Amino acid sequence: MNTLVDGLMAVDGGLRWSNRFAALGPAFFTRLAPQPLPAPYWVGRSWAVARELGLPEEWMASSAALEVFTGNLPLSGSAPLASVYSGHQFGHWAGQLGDGRAIMLGEVVTPEGAGRELQLKGSGLTPYSRMGDGRAVLRSSIREFLCSEAMQGLGIPTSRALCVTGSDEEVYREALETAAVVTRVAPSFIRFGHFEHFSHGGRHAELKTLADFVIDGFYPECRQTPLYGGNPYAALLEAVSARTAAMVAQWQAVGFCHGVMNTDNMSILGLTIDYGPFQFLDAFDPGHICNHSDPQGRYAYNRQPNIAYWNLFCLGQALLPLIGEPDVAMAALEPFKAIFPNELEAQMRAKLGLPDAQPQDRELIETILKLLAQDRVDYTIFWRRLSRHVAGDAVEPLRDLFVDRPALDAWMLYYSERLKSIPRWESADLMLKTNPKYVLRNHLGEEAIRAAKDKDFTGVARLLSLLERPFDEHPDSEALAGFPPDWASTISISCSS
Ligand code: AMP
Ligand code: MG
Repeated sequence: MNTLVDGLMAVDGGLRWSNRFAALGPAFFTRLAPQPLPAPYWVGRSWAVARELGLPEEWMASSAALEVFTGNLPLSGSAPLASVYSGHQFGHWAGQLGDGRAIMLGEVVTPEGAGRELQLKGSGLTPYSRMGDGRAVLRSSIREFLCSEAMQGLGIPTSRALCVTGSDEEVYREALETAAVVTRVAPSFIRFGHFEHFSHGGRHAELKTLADFVIDGFYPECRQTPLYGGNPYAALLEAVSARTAAMVAQWQAVGFCHGVMNTDNMSILGLTIDYGPFQFLDAFDPGHICNHSDPQGRYAYNRQPNIAYWNLFCLGQALLPLIGEPDVAMAALEPFKAIFPNELEAQMRAKLGLPDAQPQDRELIETILKLLAQDRVDYTIFWRRLSRHVAGDAVEPLRDLFVDRPALDAWMLYYSERLKSIPRWESADLMLKTNPKYVLRNHLGEEAIRAAKDKDFTGVARLLSLLERPFDEHPDSEALAGFPPDWASTISISCSS
C-alpha cells in the first residue's frame, strides 16, 4: 500500500458527510465494502464534478483518490451500502433486483450545501448481484462517464460522473474484457423500483418511510398540495410525472435513446440514469432501436414517451397503498399527457429559433420531422446546419442533406415566413444554444474506447472537454462534428456491460 503514502493524511478529500439514505435503516440496504481491484489507473476524471463536490484538484490527482474511487481504500466518513429495489424489466415483473454491482459510499454535502450521493459502479459482488459478477467493463464505464457529462452539457437532467478508473483484472462478457469502476454522483439514486419493491412485498410501513423521505428531501411542496384531498403521495406522483415528462421531452428533442427504460432504471428525481446501450441518433429514424437486446423495439426512440408513462403507471400502482383511491392515482398521472407534448413542442420551437408559440408551429415541426425521417437525414447535423443558416453564416449547404429537395424548399419558404416576426439574431442565438454541434455518437465513443483499451486515455479526455460544451464551435475538433463513418452502423450495443 506504499502508493498511498502521499494520501494518508487526506483519505477523506476534505468531504463533509450527511448520509441521509443510510438513516432509513437496514430494511433498505445491506452494508458492505467495495471489493478491491489490482493496480488501478485513471481512465477519466471530470474536474467540473470534482469542483462541485468540493474535492481539491491536488487530491483528485493523488494516488489516494485513485484507490478510493476504485474501492480499494475506504473514504473516511463514508458508510458504504448496496440498496435493494425491484422492477419491471421489458414489461415484466422481475421481482427483487437491487444494486448488484453498485455500492453507495454515502452522501456528501457540497460547498454549496447540496446533498450528493457518491456511488461506485462495478465495485464487486453484493447480496443483489444475482447471476452477475458485480463488475463493469471498461467500454461501458467510459460510455456512462462520457454520456453523463454530455447530458449535463446539453442541459438534460442526469446523474453525474466524477471519474472512471480501470484495472487489468479480467472480466468475462461475450469476450474477455477488463474491469473498471465509474464514480456516479446524484442527489439521490432512488428509482421507481425502490417503491415497487416495498409495495409488491406488502411492506407498507417501509413504503411510507421511503415516500416521506423522498418528499421531505426533494419534493417538500407536496406537503402543501391543495389537490387530491391534500394527499402528499398523489402530489408526489404528479410531481415525478411532470419531471419525467420534461426529461423525456428533452431526450426526444436532442435525439437521445436510453435503450433500457425498465422501472428500475427510472429515477424518482426525473434524472437520466443507468447509461447502458444508449445512443444519440445519427440518421433520423423514429423507430430506431439502439439496444441489440431489444429486438421487439419496446424501447425504440419513438416509444420512449409512452414507456415513460407506462413506468409512471407502475409507480402509481406502487404508491396506491399510500394514495388510497385508484381514481386519485390516475388523476395524478393525467398531467403527463399535457406536459409531455407541451414540453416537446417548446423544445422543438427552440430548435427552430422561435421564442414564442404560434398555432402553425405544430405543423411546421411535424412537417420537418416527416421530411427528416423520409430522407433519413442526420439529425444533429441538420439542426446545426439550420442554425448556421438562420445565423447567416451557412458554410455547409442544408439542401445537400435531403433527397426530396423541392419538399425542403417548400418547408423553408413556410419557415422563413414564420421567422420574419422575430429578430434574426434572436432566433440564431437561441438555435445555436439549443442545437448542439457535438453529441456522443456511438462511433466517437467507440474510438475513445479502442484507444483506452491500449491505455491511451487522451480520446476520453478530449471527448469529455468537447461534450461539456457541446454548443461551442471547437474549431480544432470539426471532424468530430461530421457524419458517422460507414462502420458506425455495424457497432452493436447490447445490455451486456
Ligand atoms: P441494468 O440492466 O444494468 O440496469 O441492471 C439490472 C440489474 O442487474 C440491476 O439490479 C443490476 O445491479 C444488475 N446487474 C447488471 N449487471 C450486473 C453484474 N455484472 N453483476 C451484478 N449485477 C448486475
Ligand atoms: Mg439499472
